Amino acid sequence: MNNLIIKKTEELTNWRKNIKSEINFIPTMGNLHHGHTKLISTAKNKNSNINLVSIFINPLQFNDKEDLKNYPKSIDNDVKLSFSNGADVIFMPSIDEIYPPNDQTIDYIKAHKELSSVLCGLSRKGHFDGVCTVVYRLLNLIKPKNLYLGEKDWQQLLILKNLVLTKKLNISIKSIPTQRDFDGIPLSSRNANLSKNERKLIRLFSNELLIAEKNFKKDKIINLKEIIKKLSAEKISIEYLKRLHPYTLKNSADEDNISILAGAIRCGKTRLIDHVFLMKRSPIIAIDGPAGSGKSTVTKLIAKKLKLLYLDTGAMYRALS
Ligand code: AMP
Repeated sequence: MNNLIIKKTEELTNWRKNIKSEINFIPTMGNLHHGHTKLISTAKNKNSNINLVSIFINPLQFNDKEDLKNYPKSIDNDVKLSFSNGADVIFMPSIDEIYPPNDQTIDYIKAHKELSSVLCGLSRKGHFDGVCTVVYRLLNLIKPKNLYLGEKDWQQLLILKNLVLTKKLNISIKSIPTQRDFDGIPLSSRNANLSKNERKLIRLFSNELLIAEKNFKKDKIINLKEIIKKLSAEKISIEYLKRLHPYTLKNSADEDNISILAGAIRCGKTRLIDHVFLMKRSPIIAIDGPAGSGKSTVTKLIAKKLKLLYLDTGAMYRALS
């Protein structure tokens, strides 16, 4: 399909009516970087669906007017990057297209209460409601089969998964791991606003999380107070640093095999988030199926790809019997 740019919702609706193929949808707020292009190219390589990227800075999810005003923009480059990484269609509407003044039909969504009232939800009141409202509106307009999201915004990912579930949308959510810059910090559109010193502080913060992840694999323990003390000594302003259950975002219990260590810091006017997973052991994947269905082949491939131990319990059972 030829590269297409759509700016009006009416145009999008008319285009959609004539599309028979399934759609991969990749929502963004622009100022694209390798995290975004990885999402676009991953979606492209997964199937032959149409890849639709949206570029829209959603005012509803900004609780700080200055932050909205200063949000970095690079629209010409975004168009180039989107198409060169596998986008077929770019939807870049104006604010009035998404939220027409006096339109009574817009569904203002409330994000899942428990998931949105912790971590970033504490300081960014209404942020996740704004995210849910815009994504729900875009999903209704685009009607995609797959929604591609980054794990960098883990809390957002959980909340949008919950939205798709509660609204009973027939959409499958695919996610990619956080893409990091050469110095370990997560790629983010807001990094463009960082001074040299702010970048240095973020590097310290992210590297501290990455070290904690590595050490946890070895020692199975983490000393949060120690990390906070270390970061505070560098005059890093920590908004939160928490170890939580990765799916419920409730406090993690010591017996949990997997938890998330999530943090947010402020550097000048910029606020950044990062997280790592703390795993006590590698995941255990059980694969079952009828005889001759390829269980061993699939299991061997998965074990190799994920660097897991391959245990052929079928062979053990046969040997024993
Ligand atoms: P944004 O433009 O910040 O709204 O992000 C659009 C999408 O890109 C979201 O699903 C983000 O989670 C994802 N994303 C942003 N930065 C990264 C990154 N460094 N790695 C992976 N995904 C990302």
